[in-house]
Order: sequence, then C-alpha cells, then structure tokens
Amino acid sequence: QAKDNGRNTYHLYNKAVHRDLAKKLELVKQLRYAVENEELVVYYQPKVELLSHRIVGMEALVRWIQEDGTVVGPDKFIPIAEDTGLIIPLSEFVLKEACKQLHHWHKLGFDDLTMAINISGKQLHLPHLVDDIMNTVHAAQVPADRIELELTEQVFIENIQSHTHFMHAIRENGISLAIDDFGVGYSSLSYLKNFPVTSLKIDRSFINDLPDNEDDAVIVQTIINLAKNLNIQLVAEGIETADQVDFLMSRECGIGQGYLFSRPLSAENITELLENYHGLIPIQIA
Ligand code: C2E
Ligand code: MG
Ligand code: MG
Ligand code: MG
Repeated sequence: QAKDNGRNTYHLYNKAVHRDLAKKLELVKQLRYAVENEELVVYYQPKVELLSHRIVGMEALVRWIQEDGTVVGPDKFIPIAEDTGLIIPLSEFVLKEACKQLHHWHKLGFDDLTMAINISGKQLHLPHLVDDIMNTVHAAQVPADRIELELTEQVFIENIQSHTHFMHAIRENGISLAIDDFGVGYSSLSYLKNFPVTSLKIDRSFINDLPDNEDDAVIVQTIINLAKNLNIQLVAEGIETADQVDFLMSRECGIGQGYLFSRPLSAENITELLENYHGLIPIQIA
C-alpha cells in the first residue's frame, strides 16, 4: 500500500517536473526568437532632480512585446536570459538602442540627459566587455560621461577580481557606475571603499512605506548620510507619493525615480513627455 502511494506520488511529481520543464523550454525558445527578431523594445523611465524638478536622465528598461501584443516585463525573462546566455545579445541590443536614443534626444536639444543601463553580473566575464561597450557608445556619438551602468549590489558583494577590474576600467573611460537596489539584505558596507562607485540607488522597498515607517525612515536617512560622506550621488527608486518626495527632499536626497513622476514609457512617449514637461510634478504628458 505504502509502496503504491510512493509510486503514485513519484509519478505525479515526475509529470509536474516534466510539464514545468516543457514550459520552460518553450519559453527559452520564444525568448531566443524574440532576441533574434527584435521583439524586444527598450522603455525609458525619467530620473528627476527633486529640488529643481528637472529631468536629469533616463533609465533603460527592456520589455518583450509578444506577437499578440502582450508586454512582458524583465523580471519574467531576464533570469532565463541569464541562465541560457541570451543575456549577452539581449544586453548588446539594449545598450545599442539606448545609446542611439540618447543621441537622438541630445540632438533634439535635451543635451544634458544621462542614460543609465542595467548590466547583469553574467556579462562581466566577457573578455572584451569594456571595449565592446566603449565601441557602442562611440558609434552612437554620445559622450561617455552621459552614460551610467547600473550593477546590482550582489555583483559588488561577490568581489570577484575581474569585476573590480571591469569597474575601474569603465570609470577610466568616463562612464558612471551605480549600485542598484542598494540596501537589500547586506550588513557590511565596507565593500563601498573598494569600488569606484559614482551613485547609489536606494531600493524601493525602503521608499515604499515612507514617511510613516520609522525603521525605513532611519535606514533611508542613514543611506543619505553615507552617500553624502562618501560624496556619491543618491537616487531614490520607486517614489509613488508626494509625501515620499517631501520626506526625501527635506533630507536632501538629490534624485528620484518612480511612478509618481512617470512609469517607464516607450521612446516616442518619452519624447512627447520631454517636449511638454514644464517642471511640474507629477509629470503630465501633454
Ligand atoms: P531595476 O533596475 O531596479 O529597475 C527598477 C524597476 O522598478 C523597474 O522595473 C521599474 O519599472 C520599477 N519601478 C520604477 N518606479 C517604480 C514605482 O514607483 N513603483 C514600483 N512598484 N515599481 C517601480 P522593471 O522595468 O520591471 O525592471 C525590473 C528589473 O529588471 C530591473 O530592476 C533590472 O534589474 C532588470 N532589467 C530591466 N532591464 C534590464 C536590462 O536591459 N538588462 C538587465 N541586465 N536587466 C534589466
Ligand atoms: Mg536599474
Ligand atoms: Mg533598482
Ligand atoms: Mg531591481
């Protein structure tokens, strides 16, 4: 009896694993097709200087537009891309596209705009990554000091020598370097000393419950002080309310990003936004 049950359970388990695997393989196949056939598009989300209400830059955020028009967010496919190596052509596409777009906006007269691009730790083992990035930046005719690469805190914590080398080389070429999702789950900040970091992005989980949550208020205040003392630019992610802006402004957090200002939008919609924006928060298109 017990034996039978065991066999049944195994059988069901096996079937479920098989189904998951088949689903995953199908997704990998679709993603490969998407990367090769330009079903990927880059959306952009503004970064706003809180004090002046100026839009100072954009972050490039990839989207997958499926055949039927469904927009799939990166959390659904970046991990798969990382596991399968598709992250490499995907990232090349995003960098190239974002640089071209930045050049276009500079030509339209928004010539101070910066562009932040997310880099996966999985890319960092590529031997010619710095050269490849610089070639793309130069080909698009954008100044290197208008480009920023965002790496998640995890990449910094791992402290692998090739990573450190990459970061220094990137900085020597004039590109800025941000720690993304800063503050999630790490106790030691000593690693900050070892890297040529130019900006910190406070993870939105700390911003969410501001100003009421006292723990978050203390943590954010501490990160603000840290950034000030290290002379690093600070960006607050995930700002959704005016109260959050007030809190951050009163504590001299320089820059913010979040749905309150604008969701990530297509290049065309961002162009419209830039042309119609007159320093009003929240940003209204047209
Ligand atoms: P991230 O780099 O931390 O990007 C910020 C994420 O927060 C974006 O999600 C953005 O849409 C979302 N967000 C911004 N403001 C708000 C807000 O006010 N409220 C809330 N709830 N969310 C907000 P998205 O676009 O889904 O991207 C998720 C993550 O996927 C990114 O996190 C980044 O780690 C990764 N990613 C996106 N594009 C790329 C890419 O081209 N390459 C790589 N390697 N990773 C990417
Ligand atoms: Mg980012
Ligand atoms: Mg982030
Ligand atoms: Mg994130």
